[in-house]
Amino acid sequence: MKAKKIAEMSDGTELPEWRPERTKYSWRNGRRIVKQGFLADQLRAGCSECKKTLNIINTVDEMTQGLWSILYIQCGACSQLKAIKTT
Ligand SMILES: [Zn+2]
Repeated sequence: MKAKKIAEMSDGTELPEWRPERTKYSWRNGRRIVKQGFLADQLRAGCSECKKTLNIINTVDEMTQGLWSILYIQCGACSQLKAIKTT
């Protein structure tokens, strides 16, 4: 039995046979709702191990929750991972 077509490309070309279950995208891309002061305060509160200030450039993963997200930021000093909410 042939699989039911659920979507097609806007230019009429065939969809590729294989598609990843979850498209992984970088935390750098797209837009989020961010409460800037809240985010800054959490970065300044720092690492739960060594208390050093966290740097957003050390984000290693992100879990999106609608328009906001949880950033997983690695401590630049001791490599401890900390989850930071954006709002
Ligand atoms: Zn640390």
